[in-house]
Amino acid sequence: MATRLELKVYRADTHNNWCPGCGDFGILAAIQMALFQLRIEPHRVAIFSGIGCSGKTPHYVNAYGFHTLHGRVLPVATGAKIANKDLTVIAVGGDGDGYGIGAGYFVNAGRRNLDFTYLVFNNGVYGLTKGQASPTLAKGIKTKSLPEETILEGLNPIALAVGAGYTFIARGYALDVRYLANLIAQAIRHRGSAFIDILQTCPTYNDLYTKDWYEEGVDGHSRLYKLEDEGYDPVVHDPTNADEIVAKKIQAVAKSYEWGDRIPIGVYYQIERPTYEEELTTRRPSLREKALVDIDLTDRDVTPLLEALR
Ligand code: SF4
Repeated sequence: MATRLELKVYRADTHNNWCPGCGDFGILAAIQMALFQLRIEPHRVAIFSGIGCSGKTPHYVNAYGFHTLHGRVLPVATGAKIANKDLTVIAVGGDGDGYGIGAGYFVNAGRRNLDFTYLVFNNGVYGLTKGQASPTLAKGIKTKSLPEETILEGLNPIALAVGAGYTFIARGYALDVRYLANLIAQAIRHRGSAFIDILQTCPTYNDLYTKDWYEEGVDGHSRLYKLEDEGYDPVVHDPTNADEIVAKKIQAVAKSYEWGDRIPIGVYYQIERPTYEEELTTRRPSLREKALVDIDLTDRDVTPLLEALR
């Protein structure tokens, strides 16, 4: 008999030690709401994390989870998805974790177009280690956790994702939980590598990009606006049309440089193209019927393989 799903099913009974007021709470709630919205049973979900405050997320969601190594969340999530194509795989991490030490994996996961979702909690600092500047903090910025202004240029995650080849690219805001939950649900439904850069407040170390800065920063008005409210169309309607693909990529990159008084959130770019799994099963049709983990290898003779490797 099918279990009756309720939102609370996705909540883990684990003590949460994020700082009070942290934007991570909003992202956690949005992940749980998205899973509930899609009615994906907890045992069909695996959440992987890197190291950082965001790395604790799998502990707080009732699903399979694995807290991996710094910057290494994407290789682990990739392995899990290849082993079990039927699993809903979500990778999470911070901006330091994903765009710093994990930047190479971030780029190559986009090229691969494996069917999984990557959520980056972007707060501009390394929160877990006392607020050092992360790769997204722009040059010349000084948060209260820094002794002086940064001297490095900030990285643009949306533009990098476009260049890497992600097929669903969005930006969310941690404290607009309902909107973020819808974005995450869209990302999970998307067939291919889906990436959401999530603007996340860190009240402990980032005193510049605060809730007030985002929501009331321009004469009491929000800096954030939704792309769809301005008629922005992120979708490549004809994935065989190279000109349309380039035009939509240029549009997304141009939008990603809007910052300051007006910051766009929503879906920047989306295209349907064959996933890594589809490419793989075209070459290995036996993998189409069953997930790798479901193939019984007990009576397979691997001697010829071992001999070939001698
Ligand atoms: Fe959240 Fe910042 Fe505290 Fe980490 S240090 S839990 S990101 S408020």
